[in-house]
Amino acid sequence: MSIPTSCRALAFDPESTEFDLRELPMRPLRRGEILARVSLSAICGSDLHTIRGRRDPGGPIVLGHEICGTVAALGEGVEADSLGAPLGAGDRVTWGIAASCGRCFYCARGLPQKCARLFKYGHETIDGDTPLSGGFAEYCYLVPGTPVYRLSDGLSDRLAVFANCSLATMQAAVRMAQVTPGDGVLIQGAGLVGLCAAALCAHRGAEPVVLLDPREERIALAQDFGASHITDPGEAGDDLVSELHDATDGGRGFDVAIEACGAPSALRTGVEALRIGGTYLLAGCVYPGATAEIDLQRLTTRLLRLQGLHNYTPLDLQEALRFLEHGRHRFAFARVVREVFPLDQIAAALDLMESDPSVLRVALRP
Ligand SMILES: [Zn+2]
Ligand SMILES: [Zn+2]
Repeated sequence: MSIPTSCRALAFDPESTEFDLRELPMRPLRRGEILARVSLSAICGSDLHTIRGRRDPGGPIVLGHEICGTVAALGEGVEADSLGAPLGAGDRVTWGIAASCGRCFYCARGLPQKCARLFKYGHETIDGDTPLSGGFAEYCYLVPGTPVYRLSDGLSDRLAVFANCSLATMQAAVRMAQVTPGDGVLIQGAGLVGLCAAALCAHRGAEPVVLLDPREERIALAQDFGASHITDPGEAGDDLVSELHDATDGGRGFDVAIEACGAPSALRTGVEALRIGGTYLLAGCVYPGATAEIDLQRLTTRLLRLQGLHNYTPLDLQEALRFLEHGRHRFAFARVVREVFPLDQIAAALDLMESDPSVLRVALRP
């Protein structure tokens, strides 16, 4: 295909906090790149942080990193996806949230998600080398080092669109926390990230899986994502920790607790809810100044492990997609994307997402 000279893109200006639907110039493909026609891009919670001024992207930007699309053109040297499946124009694909170089200090040590030259979709400003790298545009350039996977016919755009952020990140969480059958898991926060964690833990045979969230609408959802016990932290008050212990085998506490709510105050409850030798995994506090106070004696004498999580590896996305193939029937993933809007209705999309607590995702179809 010949590449158009420009395409429609929603540029977000962090200074005015306004979106501007405009034409952005397109360039020829470079060696190793893929041009994707964006078919669906969901609005992630972290996009909302940027849009509402809680996070500075550093300049005007095309947001959107929960994406899937079709191959529009292949650059020189690209014939297959990251698993070796042949790629051609029109093939449906999703791709990793970030591209890594494969050669730097961190890439060489199995931490490609923290590559020194990390390129992150929906996070690069439009004055950079690749302005079209977000989902809120007709086209997205996939740079070399991006894990790209063909989507099976069984995974619709609505099902696949959140795999490369929420689901793959929580796949990394269950991997790093080593969730195994019979483990009791506490998940703090029933946003899409927490619900994905619940489904992944239930799929691995964890029992019980307990979700904590004060929102009634989310508690109703939790059961459809494999959570067997649900507690409202607001109602339980001071007795929460003992209630949580009571929910676990022998009252010992949870093997794993996953923080997926972004509230530093969750740390204390999470740590106190763990059994001796348990693991606390932090995933949500991705903003500056998220400080919390905990009793270090408890951490020390109960042999607890604290584990941070940010981004994920290509293998996590592969696993997430494999899980989705099977898990789409058992869990309520089909209900994740509530509504789809065109680019010029971004305001209506944001309004729906922020006004109804039962909405997990709305998406844009550029
Ligand atoms: Zn995201
Ligand atoms: Zn690297």
